[in-house]
Amino acid sequence: MEARSIRFRLTAWYAIVLAAALALFGGLIWLSLRQRLVGEVDEELQRGASRFEAYVRTESLEYSGKHLVGELAEFCQALPSSTHLELRGSKGFAFRYPVSGTPVGGLMRTTERSFRIGEEDFRLTLGTSSHEIDHTLDLLKILLLTLIPAVILIACLGGAWLSRRALRPVDEITVAARHIGIENLSERLPAPGTGDEIQRLTEVWNTMLDRLESAVKTLSQFAADASHELRTPLAVIRTSAELALRRAREPEAYRDSLSEVAEEAERMTQLVEDLLFLARSDARNSAMPMTPFDLRDAVRDAVAEVRDLARAKDVELRLSLPAEEVASHGNRAATRRLYLVLLDNALKYSHPGGRVNVALTGSAHEITVTVEDFGIGISPEDLPHIFQRFYRADKARTSSGDGHGGHGLGLSLAETLAQVHGARIAVKSVEGEGSVFSVVYTR
Ligand code: ADP
Repeated sequence: MEARSIRFRLTAWYAIVLAAALALFGGLIWLSLRQRLVGEVDEELQRGASRFEAYVRTESLEYSGKHLVGELAEFCQALPSSTHLELRGSKGFAFRYPVSGTPVGGLMRTTERSFRIGEEDFRLTLGTSSHEIDHTLDLLKILLLTLIPAVILIACLGGAWLSRRALRPVDEITVAARHIGIENLSERLPAPGTGDEIQRLTEVWNTMLDRLESAVKTLSQFAADASHELRTPLAVIRTSAELALRRAREPEAYRDSLSEVAEEAERMTQLVEDLLFLARSDARNSAMPMTPFDLRDAVRDAVAEVRDLARAKDVELRLSLPAEEVASHGNRAATRRLYLVLLDNALKYSHPGGRVNVALTGSAHEITVTVEDFGIGISPEDLPHIFQRFYRADKARTSSGDGHGGHGLGLSLAETLAQVHGARIAVKSVEGEGSVFSVVYTR
């Protein structure tokens, strides 16, 4: 057993507690037995003293001096063997039994009494050796001192065995857990089926593995999608460059090719930035510095940034903000980015000559920012998926539109950003009529 294992500590604690309890128990037994034995001896001495006193009274009527001593010695023979006795009279009478024994005062238990017969005062001392008591108590002590360690030893062995049995599933789980890695995340720990704490622990571990597995799946899907998305612009760049280099051309033709390359590079930059942003917010949501700011400012910034785009697309941008400050806590740049995504989409999917309404409203419980467009809308089939990474409704339509085909990352980014700020995004959309995206902050 390792010194730091639960089994060792359990057994050690068990042994300590048991030893203390048994020591207390043994000590109490010893003490109470001693008290009891001493009490019995004392009572016996008292009775003996009374009987002897009575005997002296009757015999002294008939005898005196030597004769009395003889009678008394006879009486004493009937006393228990270890009894010692002394009787002294005020007029010089002295009797001692046994004649050549230890003086009564050196014995362990003694009793004394005084009485008067006629003109003479008598003093009677009765004693008995504690030898028998000591013997009994010593026996008990030896018994306890050998039995208690034996009991503790047996209990420890039993306890160690029990705790090994109880903890064996833990070892099994440890072994199984050691084998689970990123390459076999679908494996699960063996549940002992005992319905106890260990089974619950295993189940919790297994649900954690479920979550990890799906997170890893999402991540690798994300990586695969990202590489796939990057391949297209890279291919365009390569073919443009290769075509341009195939033979000598006019400067105009080179310029066309180069601007195509630049445009694709720009798309790639945007994509890579979005990917980085998503990856970073996946990794550590809380790392974004949060400060208090006026939500109106973030919305105003985002709207200002898309003004030119709106003009170019001939879409009217209407902004309605409350007059008083809307205090908010979060990352202002991230909030601006969130509204840029929504505004960008609203403009992207609006018809020329259309309109986009942006409004900030607040109630006692919620602050809501809505971005409303009257463009192509979203079909009910697509609606549940638009927040997924790389999802694009009707890809042909999106990319053939005005060359502004996105990567399907915008809304997923927006949702992540909203979550970081404790907000959620709600969508209402009717195909062919337009969409409303609302970001709802609960106060
Ligand atoms: P994208 O870069 O393709 O716009 P998003 O994640 O921002 O990616 O959006 C996902 C899909 O949701 C879009 O491809 C588009 O089909 C749909 N969508 C998002 N916003 C709107 C909108 N305002 N009107 C219509 N469709 C929208």
